[in-house]
Amino acid sequence: MNRRPELEVPRKILIVDDVPENLQLLSTTLSKQEYEVRRAKNGSMALMGARNNVPDLILLDINMPGLSGYQVCEQLKADSATRSIPIIFLSAQDDLEDKVKAFELGGADFIGKPFQIEEVLARVGNQLALQAAYAEIKTFNEKLELRVQERTAQLESANSILQQEIFQRHQLESKLRHDALHDNLTGLPNRSLFMERTKKCLDNTISNPHEQFAILFIDLDRFKIINDSLGHLVGDEILITCAQRLSNCVTSKTTLARLGGDEFTILLEQIADSNDAVLVAKKILQEFAQPFQVNNRSLTITVSIGIVIATENYRQEIDLLRDADTALYRAKELGKARYEIFDRQMYVQAMHRLELENEIRQGILRGELVLYYQPIISLHNMKLSGFEALVRWQHPQRGFMNPGEFIPLAEETGLIISLGKWVMHEACNQLKVWQDKLPEAHSLIMSINVTGDELRSPGFLTSIDKIIAKTQVNSSRLKLEMTESVLIEDSEEVIKVLEQIKARNIQLSIDDFGTGYSSLSYLPQFPVDNLKIDRSFVDAMDVGQQNMEIVKTISTLAQALNMQVIAEGIETEAQLSSLQALGVEFGQGFLFSKPLTPELSEKMIGKQF
Ligand code: C2E
Ligand code: MG
Ligand code: MG
Repeated sequence: MNRRPELEVPRKILIVDDVPENLQLLSTTLSKQEYEVRRAKNGSMALMGARNNVPDLILLDINMPGLSGYQVCEQLKADSATRSIPIIFLSAQDDLEDKVKAFELGGADFIGKPFQIEEVLARVGNQLALQAAYAEIKTFNEKLELRVQERTAQLESANSILQQEIFQRHQLESKLRHDALHDNLTGLPNRSLFMERTKKCLDNTISNPHEQFAILFIDLDRFKIINDSLGHLVGDEILITCAQRLSNCVTSKTTLARLGGDEFTILLEQIADSNDAVLVAKKILQEFAQPFQVNNRSLTITVSIGIVIATENYRQEIDLLRDADTALYRAKELGKARYEIFDRQMYVQAMHRLELENEIRQGILRGELVLYYQPIISLHNMKLSGFEALVRWQHPQRGFMNPGEFIPLAEETGLIISLGKWVMHEACNQLKVWQDKLPEAHSLIMSINVTGDELRSPGFLTSIDKIIAKTQVNSSRLKLEMTESVLIEDSEEVIKVLEQIKARNIQLSIDDFGTGYSSLSYLPQFPVDNLKIDRSFVDAMDVGQQNMEIVKTISTLAQALNMQVIAEGIETEAQLSSLQALGVEFGQGFLFSKPLTPELSEKMIGKQF
């Protein structure tokens, strides 16, 4: 039982007893067990000894003169340096009360006197083993504590990394959400966000019908021309400035969005009546009255605005946007740089346009389009030199329609491409038929009107080649007419196409010359054969000297550029002689003939020679 705990360093035991025999016996026995033994024969020596060199265990006699064992114990327990030394009391008073007191004072064990040395050894051994176990537990706990601290630190760092990741992810998410709902050029809300907010307003109006709101649909006038002529970078810059100008006109709480391209929208919440929306529209028009400074030049950009006031009749936000767009379209139609408020009448007209659009599509398919031909006369010898093909639509319900009623819509909707192909094929085919039938027709030129969209459409040249191949018409007998505006927009692209057209021996005419905004300096760049003086100049020639001068100038310009002049809209003999006097080569107008059906045109060819 008296097995010693295996320790490398001898354990120190302090024996305290006033009886020298006891001291002697105990110290001899314990020393034999390789404990390092010290002795004290009274309480105060014991205290001193314990404090000077803290033992691993104290065997403490209770009954001693001077300080009793209990008092020694009390003092040792009161001192933090000695508090944890296990104390085994030795006492002759082997009764219960003593034992209880001994344990109450913090004693570790109690041995009655006279003691059995084996018992002492066993109890000492136990106490030391216990002590060693405590120490081990303590180190273990300390290590554990350290590990817990380490793990906590690791967890904390892992946690903070995680927190950071979560934060970054949140940021990324909110950036993605922001990007998904904003236009990246101007930073304004985009279409989705605008529609979302409009929907909220609409839902609110359904439950609070007295609350009104409005949508302003804003579009830059002629932005495409600016964008094409000054380049997309400048275009982007202008859009950013426009966004800033628009935001100057509304409060920061108002939703101003960029729908795409040059289209902006404003959601005006909680307005008293339409006047509030009109005020904002007027402010915008005023804001845009200031010219823009772009690339060291001053540029005036105007906007057109369509306004719709939301009423409880609206169920869907898309309908509001549609009606604002319709009002915008009207503002453009009425001359741009203005605002219009949507009304029922506009809706009816918009529906009409939509119907017409579908009908044009079907009209082409159902062969309702026809070509009329207006003779073009040589003013030198008054002979027929050719025809201009002018499209008409024999509408089953609406009756005979002139191109002015459907060409603009066809241009807007892109239907002009298929319409143009049809016209080109029909006119070429007609010329070929006449040429095959009538020898006089061989020298005739067929003029065909083409729009910028057609010229710029990717399949344009291929389609001409196919038509020429199919109809077997002589391409040098063909002439394409286009307006000035076509030449200004995207001029480099256009020059390439025009050169390709010229390479096919087809002639080119600038139609309605003089009505465009362009400067004349652009003209020499284009491989053009004819200038067609616009009807408005010819029309007013009789009246004012000024118009005469304009026609004269155009004629001189044409000569200088090696181009021939065709005068449009000759209606009187007086106009004819003035033009002849100016040396204008060709003429076209009601004085000679209105546009004719193919049959009447054919008769005219026959009559000529
Ligand atoms: P435009 O090319 O300038 O055609 C001349 C227009 O002036 C024709 O009107 C013609 O009828 C009219 N006109 C001719 N002589 C006189 C006259 O002495 N007095 C008056 N008051 N008017 C005269 P139309 O046929 O209504 O065509 C209008 C415009 O529609 C054309 O102007 C042309 O730009 C366009 N257009 C016609 N057919 C086509 C086509 O097949 N394709 C394309 N893209 N546009 C076409
Ligand atoms: Mg024309
Ligand atoms: Mg014309």
